Amino acid sequence: MRVHHLNCGSMHPLGGRLMLAAEDAGPPHMVCHVLLIETGDTLVLVETGLGTEDVRHPDVRLGKPFRHIVRPPLRPAETAIEQIRGLGLNPDDVRHILLTHLDLDHAGGVTDFPQARVHVLADEKAAADAHAHWKERERYRPPQFASHKHWSLHQPDGEAWFGFDAVRELEGLPPEILMIPLAGHTRGHAAIAVDTGAGWLLHAGDAYFHRHEMQAKPRCPLGLRLFQQLVAMDNERRAANQDRLRQLAVSQANEVRVFCAHDAAELAQCRASRPA
Ligand SMILES: [Zn+2]
Repeated sequence: MRVHHLNCGSMHPLGGRLMLAAEDAGPPHMVCHVLLIETGDTLVLVETGLGTEDVRHPDVRLGKPFRHIVRPPLRPAETAIEQIRGLGLNPDDVRHILLTHLDLDHAGGVTDFPQARVHVLADEKAAADAHAHWKERERYRPPQFASHKHWSLHQPDGEAWFGFDAVRELEGLPPEILMIPLAGHTRGHAAIAVDTGAGWLLHAGDAYFHRHEMQAKPRCPLGLRLFQQLVAMDNERRAANQDRLRQLAVSQANEVRVFCAHDAAELAQCRASRPA
């Protein structure tokens, strides 16, 4: 198994230092952290970030509020499909996509891989289809996923993973890849665990947003802290799950590398320690 850490969508949110810690160098900058896994003759994506249709038609696909508040530069070269080609790999070999959730900055690349099977928790797909709450009408963008044909909708089952519920034996995927339900940010949010053979990776999606939140004494820039509370579907559950994740990150630091979707420094650390 070979794992590449990609950024499939830079973002420069309004709010500057309220959103990123004072010691962060350079302009306020967030990423969409995507894993590309080579396993046998198959490619697996964990998350997709923004896709080519988002870059081409951002007002329709992402909506104007997202464009003007989150301010993605929308670079074609950052899409997963272009980066796969750039690595000399064939995008048609992407057979599986695992999504932590279906928010617009995570599911945008799905339409670039119509042949792939998309794995999400059943609760997440139901929430995205129902579009019931005003927050869900903003965050889920049906053109990104409504016409996709191949879905595997999962319920937690089987043996726990480091004390967390887990979905194991995902149809068509090697046993080294699991989904870990972590609801709160959305109704069916999950983390994705990957056993690389040299330790676990845990892609925590939007269960937290800033690397300092995974320290024993957590810190988070004020703007990001408020943002997380505002967009959560169940803030109490989000906070409780973030606590459990922090305990895991602190107690199993040698076994499990935990990272979230949008922290640029975490992405840089992953790339430095696990070169593609
Ligand atoms: Zn996100």
